[in-house]
Amino acid sequence: MNKNRDIRVAVIGAGLAGLTTAAALRHFGIDAEVYEAAADKRATGAALGVGSNATKVLRELGIDLASAGVGQITDRFELRTQGGELIRRVPMASMTEELGAPLVTIRRSDLADLLHGFLGDRKVNYGAKLTGYRRTPEGVAAEFGDGSVVVADILVGADGIHSSVRREIAGHDEPVNHGYVCWLATIPFTHAKLPPGYAGHYWGRGKRFGLMDLGNGSAYWWATKNVSDDYRSARDSVKDDVLASFGDWADEVVAAIEATPAADIMAVPAWDRPFLENWGNGPVTLVGDAAHPMLASLAQGGGSSIEDGYVLASALASHNNGEEALRAYEESRRERTRMLVETSRQVSKIEQIESPVLCALRNRVLRYMPDSVVRKQNMAPMIFNFPVWN
Ligand SMILES: Cc1cc2nc3c(=O)[nH]c(=O)nc-3n(C[C@H](O)[C@H](O)[C@H](O)COP(=O)(O)OP(=O)(O)OC[C@H]3O[C@@H](n4cnc5c(N)ncnc54)[C@H](O)[C@@H]3O)c2cc1C
Repeated sequence: MNKNRDIRVAVIGAGLAGLTTAAALRHFGIDAEVYEAAADKRATGAALGVGSNATKVLRELGIDLASAGVGQITDRFELRTQGGELIRRVPMASMTEELGAPLVTIRRSDLADLLHGFLGDRKVNYGAKLTGYRRTPEGVAAEFGDGSVVVADILVGADGIHSSVRREIAGHDEPVNHGYVCWLATIPFTHAKLPPGYAGHYWGRGKRFGLMDLGNGSAYWWATKNVSDDYRSARDSVKDDVLASFGDWADEVVAAIEATPAADIMAVPAWDRPFLENWGNGPVTLVGDAAHPMLASLAQGGGSSIEDGYVLASALASHNNGEEALRAYEESRRERTRMLVETSRQVSKIEQIESPVLCALRNRVLRYMPDSVVRKQNMAPMIFNFPVWN
């Protein structure tokens, strides 16, 4: 089955996409080295929801998040008003049962540790910032900031939304700013209104708050707020900003913010990029946010990065020619990732509505939407089928 066992793959970036790509390549018996610009393995902040699509892929790689002892299966999902009134329940337990894999909320650092553990002695090369690359008769020569050069058969850009590999392929463009800030944190936290496996999304006017049980007496929260283009969240006032924005929301929301040390609150802008049709060229391709950065509204940026890594490794293992494998990988990912980028934008617009009239209408539509529609809409982003190559 493995037709490309002897190729050398250089993966640029040790985020979720790069680590999963390396883990999947290892699973298929292909040699890969990871090069990361950061000086060392830093604790990456906050947490994320890993959808059924991605927990299924990780399970196939031998990483079972349901029994890893870190993270929490999310089997209750509720939409609420800012005051805490229930808008509706989303049948997460039966949806994920039908999908055949759970949704797991997990600290990013715990997920990274699991992937690092899987890589074993195939260490990540830290302090290796890619500055450019060129085609050579032997393959591709990757050039790093310290002047070193690494020659590989395949180069994978897993270097995030500001990817320099993408810039070489597609030229320079600016990320699109969608006009709101995201604050996020993980905290030791228990509350009567935070039962095991709970995920609550609280919807206000141009503001949202997410509160998730992380297991073992801890929680993950995120908040969004519409802001002007020049808004910058200052470190010494960030907690005051969050409290000023959500201080009169449901008790559990306010308690979670109050329990969070200011220094633990991260602020990130809501950015994506227009969908890129072709994200490969010769022996070079992209995975994760480098290929298809998306807004967080479907919680699928990380999940689709995990899928990318698996599909790319599986394509390389199933094709005689490395470049053909890359084009087959890109082709097989195009429609799904386009759907995720575009749907995330549509959902984000609805979520961040500010007009009181439209917010009331939105909540009413959600409250009375047939169960079958709610189910279908929430399951669609989590449907992933393993590739079958001809
Ligand atoms: C607020 C928010 C909430 C989110 N929630 C979820 C969620 O619940 N579920 C979900 O699935 N997704 C979620 N996402 C999306 C998810 O975080 C990203 O899609 C995912 O982390 C992308 O991983 P990546 O490896 O592609 O990029 P990154 O995590 O950005 O990693 C890129 C890596 O490349 C390195 N790098 C950059 N340039 C170079 C270079 N020149 N040379 C070498 N290394 C380089 C960087 O240092 C970095 O380590 C969320 C995103 C946000 C902003």
